[in-house]
Amino acid sequence: MTKGKIIKALSGFYYVQVADRVIECRGRGLFRKKNITPLVGDRVDIELQDDGSGYLTKIEKRDNELIRPPIANVQQAFIVTSAVDPVFNAQLLDRFLVLVEAEQIEPVLIITKMDLIDENEKHEIERFRRTYHQIGYPVLLVSAKGKEGIDDIIPYMKGKTTVMAGQSGVGKSTLLNELKPGLNLETKGISKSLGRGKHTTRHVELLEMHGGLIADTPGFSSLEFENIDADELQHFFPEMRDKHSQCKFRGCRHHQEPKCAVKEAVEKEEIASFRYQHYLQFLQEIQNRKPRYER
Ligand code: GDP
Ligand code: ZN
Repeated sequence: MTKGKIIKALSGFYYVQVADRVIECRGRGLFRKKNITPLVGDRVDIELQDDGSGYLTKIEKRDNELIRPPIANVQQAFIVTSAVDPVFNAQLLDRFLVLVEAEQIEPVLIITKMDLIDENEKHEIERFRRTYHQIGYPVLLVSAKGKEGIDDIIPYMKGKTTVMAGQSGVGKSTLLNELKPGLNLETKGISKSLGRGKHTTRHVELLEMHGGLIADTPGFSSLEFENIDADELQHFFPEMRDKHSQCKFRGCRHHQEPKCAVKEAVEKEEIASFRYQHYLQFLQEIQNRKPRYER
């Protein structure tokens, strides 16, 4: 018996990385009977055959499981936002942060296209950087064009399975190409200049890079808070977590309740007001959501 990790699934075969080898494996009826589908990212036991291929014999319990793309045991997310083109969008960034936190995945914020902005805009981005840094998130500023800041990403990759998240056009594929020379993922620029259409949906694959694995397909494509409850939302804003015990009401949602420590912290500028505003917007979105049985 050998232990490994599924890095690719294609036409009924599972490609399992074992040390520095990749072994083509089949599933076996075992999982079908139990209604379990092996996922990319699964830690598995395999049984080697004489011909060098293998059989999956066991899937270890998953830490988490993303639906889009289907991938298990993700530890980290690179949340990519561009400084410009598309314009820096803190609300969308906070949305990704909440979704990532809810899956107990560690976020790393990457702000791209720093080469395209002027000094004033850089000050603006610097203010955001400081806010997120104070909350406890790593924030990396990069420019793929001048290859600046790319090396700072590398230490975060080691030993982890990472997924990229971020709006289309922010530079996710470009970053992967920079991180792994020779990868040649299609980027917007290239596909346009060659007049090729948008590539069809591929299967997700984990790419080995700098001692870790990274998904070649971005995650969190659904930006709805489908599985997050109104009382739970505040847990995904780390700067609110330690204030909560000081609110007058135990079930405080930091909205209309009196003697709310979170609102006081916003007034004292200990909590960034834009973050609090996004919290309120998300809270309202969740409260307006139809109950599950009506959907
Ligand atoms: P994705 O949709 O997030 O994968 O974005 P792409 O990687 O396809 O990038 C979208 C466009 O932005 C492409 O034309 C890239 O060349 C460009 N781009 C990405 N990163 C940078 C950057 O740091 N600086 C500049 N100037 N352009 C970038
Ligand atoms: Zn409160």
